[in-house]
Order: sequence, then C-alpha cells, then structure tokens
Amino acid sequence: RRKKQLQVGDYVNGVLENNRTMLARTITLVESNAEKHFQLGQNVISELLPHTGKSIRIGITGVPGAGKSTLIEALGTHLCDRGHKVAVLAVDPSSQVSKGSILGDKTRMEQLTKNKNAFVRPTPSGGTLGGVARKSRETMLVCEAAGYDVIIVETVGVGQSETTVRSMVDFFLVVMITGAGDELQGMKKGVLEIADAIFINKADGDNKIKALAAKEEYNQILHYLPPATKGWETKAHTCSALEKEGIDTMWDVVNNYISHTKQKNIFYERRKEQLFLWLNETLQSQLLNRFYDHPTIKSSLPTYKAEIEAGTTTVTLAAQKLLEDYDTS
Ligand code: GDP
Repeated sequence: RRKKQLQVGDYVNGVLENNRTMLARTITLVESNAEKHFQLGQNVISELLPHTGKSIRIGITGVPGAGKSTLIEALGTHLCDRGHKVAVLAVDPSSQVSKGSILGDKTRMEQLTKNKNAFVRPTPSGGTLGGVARKSRETMLVCEAAGYDVIIVETVGVGQSETTVRSMVDFFLVVMITGAGDELQGMKKGVLEIADAIFINKADGDNKIKALAAKEEYNQILHYLPPATKGWETKAHTCSALEKEGIDTMWDVVNNYISHTKQKNIFYERRKEQLFLWLNETLQSQLLNRFYDHPTIKSSLPTYKAEIEAGTTTVTLAAQKLLEDYDTS
C-alpha cells in the first residue's frame, strides 16, 4: 500500500510542532536532489521562513582528532541542561571526494543524539561544496522553525569548507590542539583570520602547561591580525572537552560576542550580507549550469576548445564568442 502523499502543510505543521519524525523527513526533502522534491521543499521553507532566524548560529572547525565531536557533545549537553534546544549539523564535502567522510561515519556524539533537547544531523551527501552548503543553510532554517535556539555547524578544514561555514554562521570557533604536525601550520594562519574565538582543547593532564603556553602564543599572533569580525577582538582560550572544563567560558564568550555585535548592529549587517552572498552564489552556479547545458554551447564548445588547443584563437576571444553564441540563441 502506498504511503499518503505528504502536502506542504503536513511538513510545515510537523516542523512547527517539533515532531522529530517530520523534522527529519522535511530535512530529507530539502536535501533531495530530485527535481520533483525541489518545488515542494521550497514551498515548505517559504512557509517556515517567518519562524526562522532567532537562533544563535555557531560554526566549529578543527583538524580531525582535535576533539570537535567531544567538544560539541560537551557544549551541547551543557546547553540542553540549561533549557536550550541544540541542533548540530555538519558540512563535510570530503565525503563526496573520498567516498568516506572525514567527520567520520562512526557513531558520534552518542549522548547528545539521545538527548530530547538536541537534534544531530549528519552531513548531507553528494554534490559540490556549494550544494552541501545550500542544503545546510536550508536545514538550519528548518531547525530554527522547529524551535532550536542554538545551531552548531561542524566542519573540518578541507579546502573551502571553513570559509563556507563562516559565511553561514554568526560566530566561528576554531578548535586547536598543541603539537599538531608542521603540515598543519599552513592552514592555521588562514583559519585564524576568520576565527571569532580559538579554543585550545585537551588542556588536561600533562598537556595543560603546553596548552596554556600555546594560548599565549596564539594571543600574540592574533594581536597582529585584522579582526575577523569588526569591533571584536578574537582571543585564544583553553578547554578540556573530556573533563568538561572551559565549556561555560566558551558559552560566555559566545554570549558576549552576540550581545556586543547586536548592540553595534554588526550582527544584523552580517546576516544580511550572508543572505546576499548566498543569493549571489546561487545565481552564479545556476547561470553556469544554464550556460553549459545549452544545446548551442554544447555543440560549439568542443570547436572552440580545439581552436584554443591548436593555437588559432585566444582564450579570451573564444569566451567572448561563446557568450555571443549564448546570447543570440
Ligand atoms: P574530532 O575528530 O575533532 O571530532 O575529535 P574527537 O572528538 O573524535 O576526539 C578525538 C580524540 O581526542 C578522541 O579519542 C577523544 O577522546 C580525544 N579527546 C577529545 N577531547 C579531549 C580532551 O579535552 N582531552 C583529552 N585528553 N582528549 C580528548
């Protein structure tokens, strides 16, 4: 027997009631690549839109093994205990490239997964980073409509994923550890420039002294970097996700940041810029698809490529002619 076909209202009401089954089904709908799901998904999100935007959106990054999932579990549980509702999402484009995910297929955040005030969703699969990001942004909206007031988006430092997550959250937290290999140093500087806070994790046992020294070092480096967020000074801190130390400090830092940036209107400005950036990215990728899918371009592109290869035309001229072909067809 076929299941009853769900309508927009079924999804919308299910989400607004925070019915977990319906929440999961709505996210699955939004994440679907199928043409027939697209319009329905967009209609659902449109109706949910007035109920979105009221959460604190936090991005968390760090190298594999830094302790992200242990930390998110500790922070998430801490917040749930204080009456918050926490949704944890992931952006892991590596799962598409390597067919295995860096964030891991292992059961992560076991406690938090069982907590009735938390909702943990693995990374959407398939597609480019842009595709994964679109799904995560919309999933975030769905979770907000369901009443989650803290949204945590986790990512690993691969390629552009950190910048992408930065562009969808209010606060960006970088988890570091001491003594990570030299190969990581390169990635560190770039990520420091977009961090609103750095937490050096595993500051426990024999490692505590090293972590405190690293904190001082990072604070000195940060002092010379332009602020990631206008009017906010990024600082380094230590914590131990394992011993649940520094978690309350972490939440204090987030709250200070939120009230500070709201007061100066920076918070709202950034959210607006993020929406426009999202629009821009969407248009860019859809225009590109439309261009390459066009029959005229499909048939003439190989000819231009051959000419470029033979050295009988310049790349700039070939691009210009392709655009003219596209415009006139
Ligand atoms: P992720 O890959 O960044 O998500 O890292 P995990 O949360 O999976 O942690 C990697 C390893 O580090 C696990 O064995 C954790 O138990 C351990 N770990 C995480 N946080 C801490 C911490 O604060 N102190 C210590 N000593 N170990 C930790």
